[in-house]
Amino acid sequence: MTPRRKKGDILSETLGTPARPLRVAVVGSGPSGFYAAEALFRREGLEVRVDVFDRLPTPYGLVRYGVAPDHQKMKAVIRAYEKTASRPGFRYFGHVELGKDLSVEELHAHYDQIIYAMGAETDKRLGIPGEDLEGSLSSTAFVGWYNGHPNHESLEVDLGCRRVAVIGIGNVAMDVVRVLLRKPEELAETDIADYSLEAIRRSPIREIYLLGRRGAGQAAFTPKEIEEVGKLEGVDLVVDPAQAGEAELEGLEPGTPEYKNVEYLRAKAAEGEGSHERKVRLILLASPVEILGADGRVTGLRYEKNTLVDNGRGGLKAQGTGETAELEVGLVIRAVGYRGLRVPGVPFHEAWGIIPNEEGRVRGEDGSPRTAEYVVGWAKRGPSGLIGTNKGDSAATVEKMIEDLPSTEPAPHGGEDAATIRLLEDRGVEWVSFEDWKLLDRLETERGEARGRVREKILGVEGAMAALREAKAQNA
Ligand code: NAP
Repeated sequence: MTPRRKKGDILSETLGTPARPLRVAVVGSGPSGFYAAEALFRREGLEVRVDVFDRLPTPYGLVRYGVAPDHQKMKAVIRAYEKTASRPGFRYFGHVELGKDLSVEELHAHYDQIIYAMGAETDKRLGIPGEDLEGSLSSTAFVGWYNGHPNHESLEVDLGCRRVAVIGIGNVAMDVVRVLLRKPEELAETDIADYSLEAIRRSPIREIYLLGRRGAGQAAFTPKEIEEVGKLEGVDLVVDPAQAGEAELEGLEPGTPEYKNVEYLRAKAAEGEGSHERKVRLILLASPVEILGADGRVTGLRYEKNTLVDNGRGGLKAQGTGETAELEVGLVIRAVGYRGLRVPGVPFHEAWGIIPNEEGRVRGEDGSPRTAEYVVGWAKRGPSGLIGTNKGDSAATVEKMIEDLPSTEPAPHGGEDAATIRLLEDRGVEWVSFEDWKLLDRLETERGEARGRVREKILGVEGAMAALREAKAQNA
């Protein structure tokens, strides 16, 4: 075992060398976790062992459970993660939860450095009356539901209404609209959860109101995503010409995503109502003030009309005019952003919903430095950016870890490959290795292919564990 060193010793000569490889724990197996692992492996001259933990048996986080099922091409990034997983020195420990199966102190005893990559698991609240009525769903829950996420697969979702309001106009809202209105035949080829596909097939939804609190030039969706909604077969995207005119281009730089968004919305506004029965109606400068209900269920939405004012930071913010309007809807989906969840033993910034940090170095809730703890992805910077954004962001945190290496104290059990396994076994934790996951992966794709689908996800944590036990028994 590597002797324990005192702080201040020159350690870089040993840690990260063949004699004593650097041992890193990554908590969370989504894109940011995998990119961090890859950045470590790519580091020239660094001998490193990386163990990636996930509380779910299955890896890939948001790629598996967040990316919309009709965006299968986006899931191709998994190939890069598989390459990382095949590197010598990589291990996956699925079905192991930090704060339940392992503590932060135990991670410190077994790993020289820890990376938190837990993402942003829950939703931002609107804080308006009626938010908890039946039929008012967060996008976190709704997206998790159609993607078969173990936390949300048993969600009661009633799509038996004709009109729906989606609050927020970011790319998650675009995903939600597409999944609700895309032809079920197209969705049937994807890895969408069976029960969701059935509900969508039977759904009479004809109109979706898409509510943005600011104007056309401040929309959070990207041009490609709004155009995809505009191109949905059998659906008209209806834009009020008064909300997407020449004035909305003012102050925008030609060629920027914002400019392109307005140009596209102007073109749509010129097309008018269109001829299809199904409509997506964009309502801008509208902030929800109450979700209306009867007998505990959503019946409508009241919103306040806004005007734009200077936000004092060179941008524009919405300001209510006092004038309100109502929409009759049977379902409200709130797609106003995500936030992180507190994990026992890990500092958390309640207001921002992230792990407090300075350039990826974790700080305590009082601002004090935390030894050998780092953070990447949405847990670091909040829920923004595309999957690829995490590549550079994770590499930047790894850069800080390397900078800190000379003063990093080797973990007491960091030199032992078997120590983590021993700990989990002693505790009776049934962990899932990457090899195990590949068994599940094969099972899912085979089941899917048999039905003309890319994959049929095995549902539930227990469902996955049972399927794995069976597959292992058959292979034994
Ligand atoms: P987002 O891009 O931040 O959009 C959130 C939306 O909610 C904005 O329109 C925002 O308006 C609105 N909002 C926030 N608080 C509100 C409130 N209190 N009342 C009314 N509206 C409110 O977040 P997201 O859609 O959850 O997406 C998260 C990240 O994932 C983004 O970076 C996104 O691009 C990415 N993503 C990408 C894809 C893709 O590439 N296809 C798919 C899904 C997600 P304001 O702008 O006024 O704040």
